[in-house]
Amino acid sequence: MSIVKCQLLIMDPYKTLGVDKNASDADIKKAYRRLAMKYHPDKGGSKADEKKFKEVTAAYEVLGDKQKKAQYDQFGSVGTGPGGAGFGGFDFSGFQNVNFDFGGGFGDIFDTFFGGGARKAQAKRGPIRGNDIEIVVRLTFDEAVFGATKEVELSRYETCEHCKGMGNEPGSKIIDCDTCRGTGQHVRIQRTPLGQIQTAATCEVCNGAGKVPEKKCRECKGEGRVIKNQKIKIKIPAGIHDKAAIRLSGKGEAGLKGGVAGDLFAHISISPSDEFRREGDDIKTEQHIHLLQAVMGDEVNVKTIHGNVKLKMQAGTENGKIFKLKGYGVPKVGSAAKGDHYVKIIVDIPQKLNKKEKELYEELIKEAKLTIKPQNKGLFG
Ligand SMILES: [Zn+2]
Ligand SMILES: [Zn+2]
Repeated sequence: MSIVKCQLLIMDPYKTLGVDKNASDADIKKAYRRLAMKYHPDKGGSKADEKKFKEVTAAYEVLGDKQKKAQYDQFGSVGTGPGGAGFGGFDFSGFQNVNFDFGGGFGDIFDTFFGGGARKAQAKRGPIRGNDIEIVVRLTFDEAVFGATKEVELSRYETCEHCKGMGNEPGSKIIDCDTCRGTGQHVRIQRTPLGQIQTAATCEVCNGAGKVPEKKCRECKGEGRVIKNQKIKIKIPAGIHDKAAIRLSGKGEAGLKGGVAGDLFAHISISPSDEFRREGDDIKTEQHIHLLQAVMGDEVNVKTIHGNVKLKMQAGTENGKIFKLKGYGVPKVGSAAKGDHYVKIIVDIPQKLNKKEKELYEELIKEAKLTIKPQNKGLFG
């Protein structure tokens, strides 16, 4: 669910960037900047074209990287990803990145685009399910314990309203793709160290559909969907655990050609509390008491996540004793039950005695007929 495989097909990155095979690094960079600016979905104005933007960026990913460029120059393609897509272009895997932001600098766009995974769905015929989106939702300790509604902002593909996702300008026809003659594929021959390899690649013009709109929708440039920023509210159930994931069905990216939308996965990250240690649905704390409270017994206020609770300790409460406050822990997700709160007693030994106290302790010693001498009982550890 988390890995989105992307395949970008590049016929010829030199051609895409409009540079000569002997072009210098600086020239390649300059060409990329110019074209990226021209087609940038937010900055390009009337020439904006997300598909072309991705193509030039993909081309620059090859030519802007010494190693990849050398590989391309030698073999006519760039190495395969973990999926081993053969020589049909290059392939990479990555997490969907909701912070896919066209507003950033060029370096950022480049990094986000290639570091965060592209959004281009793998081309195929028929309906294509929208990509899933993975996000991290950070919660405070309290939000996780008691539940919350978190608003997140997503930048995601949504179905184009103008063409209802069909890609054609309303009223215009859908016709056979000219480039692939309606087959959705074209055959390529590539030079490789093993000789020539013939691969069938998806037609880039129709994305493998075999059909194209006679007149592309002016809103989505024929893609059937557009990138939109939207705020989404996510209800976090009380008691959610760290690293849990909430799946919001259909809240991912819009599908293509009538495909269903992907899902949104919200991964939960909870910050710890200064006061409470949470273990599953239980809470653990330490309670410091005075030596005299331990000896004589007392009632102390224990702070729990549900407020203060009176804890009665009998006389002779030992250091390290653990009390269980049943039902004072974290609510169990989807249930009325709660975990427990465990309190560990830490007996503080007075470090300084005043004159009066000293006298009283001496009295106590006499009374108990104690002789003070070190005792070897048990071992450390
Ligand atoms: Zn449209
Ligand atoms: Zn085609």
